[in-house]
Amino acid sequence: MKLTVHHLYADMMNLYGDRGNVLSIKKRCEWRGIPVEVVDVGVGEPVRPTGCDIFLFGGGQDREQALLAGDLAGKKGAELRAIVEDGGVVLGVCGGYQLMGHYYETPEGERLPGVGIFDLYTEPRKPGEGRLIGNVLVRVELGGEARELVGFENHGGRTRLGDVEPLGTVLYGHGNNGEDGTEGARRLNAYGTYLHGSLLPKNPWFTDHLILSALRRVDGSFELEPLDDALELRAFEAMADRLRGGGAS
Ligand code: GLN
Repeated sequence: MKLTVHHLYADMMNLYGDRGNVLSIKKRCEWRGIPVEVVDVGVGEPVRPTGCDIFLFGGGQDREQALLAGDLAGKKGAELRAIVEDGGVVLGVCGGYQLMGHYYETPEGERLPGVGIFDLYTEPRKPGEGRLIGNVLVRVELGGEARELVGFENHGGRTRLGDVEPLGTVLYGHGNNGEDGTEGARRLNAYGTYLHGSLLPKNPWFTDHLILSALRRVDGSFELEPLDDALELRAFEAMADRLRGGGAS
């Protein structure tokens, strides 16, 4: 069984080191002897699911989002919607997350069409409002277990959820819009978040959740061998403790 990581628009949507998410999945599979392949999926290139996949869609500036919105509006968007409906594992970060909704509206008022995986939209900040920037701590409930995610956010867009679950609740930071206390979105095995960082190296439990979700689509009883995450957990706790205490440096 081989896991294929499909890196959507790898060269365009890679803000704040989101490529680290690809590397984290790759290494955590290699350390366990699980064969893994990374495939870059660019503009005009089809998505080719193998049956054991994770699709990653990183963050990007308004300019890059506009350049690829047309590509998503076509066949690729329909492919990604079908993948999600079929239980495929997808992670969108910030700009990629925004384009997993109905639309992302730029500060200039241009509405970039999204894929419509999540029932949400993103509107620009109001005059006088700043970008939502800083460290974030989020409480997530997955599989009946309460966990936390740490990361870094930097977005102007304000995301408004419709009939979709948030990924979690903001314990520190802004999240989707800095107002309703929600962060991200999730549906079936698709996840969206504003957390850069990059997200996955800082949150090994979530990385393993994505890997296991993909592997169990082939073998429902698959178990992941535990790894020594002492270093990652030290980094996580250093950040989480600081944010729980109000974020003072
Ligand atoms: N361009 C989008 C915004 O500013 C997303 C930014 C990002 O991916 N960090 O909201």
